[in-house]
Amino acid sequence: MKRKRILALIAAMAFAMLALAGCGGNPNASSSASGSGAKVLKVGSSIDFAPFEFQDEGQKDYQGFDMDLIRAIGKEMGYEVEIQNLGFDGLIPALQAKNVDAVISGMTINDDRKANVLFSEPYYQSGLTMVVREDEEGIKTFNDLKGKKVAVQIGTTSAEAVKKLGGVEVKELNTPADCFMELKGKGVDAVVNDRPVNDYFIHKSGTTGVKQLEERLTSEDYGIAIAKDNAELQKKIDEALKKVKESGEYDKIFAKWFGEKK
Ligand code: GLN
Repeated sequence: MKRKRILALIAAMAFAMLALAGCGGNPNASSSASGSGAKVLKVGSSIDFAPFEFQDEGQKDYQGFDMDLIRAIGKEMGYEVEIQNLGFDGLIPALQAKNVDAVISGMTINDDRKANVLFSEPYYQSGLTMVVREDEEGIKTFNDLKGKKVAVQIGTTSAEAVKKLGGVEVKELNTPADCFMELKGKGVDAVVNDRPVNDYFIHKSGTTGVKQLEERLTSEDYGIAIAKDNAELQKKIDEALKKVKESGEYDKIFAKWFGEKK
């Protein structure tokens, strides 16, 4: 019985490989027609980063600033946007493997990433801040983190920046929510994460017992990432982003999630 199944599996795999080899000539397979004839833009995002990308309980659609922005960009390009929820550290590999066409995920444009992917023009200015427990007296600035335990999301600029500080015990967890839970449970002394996400966690999610410190460790710009060999899509996305900004749609989306621009 077992052997038969294995044989069937091997046969199925061989068939799939033949089928794949048969369509090797279509380089646009992933971003071309869907069943309905509409063009589909497959976008990867790590849906754990409110207010940029998150899912409320009982809600089917992913929501947030990035979600609204990429849908507006897709609309401008004449593409239907299909979001795939992936771990943050799996987003660039997914682009490279051509499992997705683009990534929008509060992703900071930096040189390390630029070695592997293309980025759109910047679409949001961010940076890193720190969250500690409300009764914390010993940590007032990033310099105070030496000898302390700090939680960060794996694969992020926070992870990189905190390691660079030196002498900090860094705990890399899967999501910002995991980091905040660890802080409340006293498994760590601080969380370093993107400022708007810390803001949202403290002011909008109704959490108590923690505070955000003023100091900013970095200033960073978010961009939409595209595979290194897809300059054509990068250009289309940049053109659409420009139009979304010029039409006032960007400001509307910004105001919806962050209030009017100062
Ligand atoms: N902006 C940070 C980075 O690019 C964090 C992004 C995220 O966690 N979604 O690394």
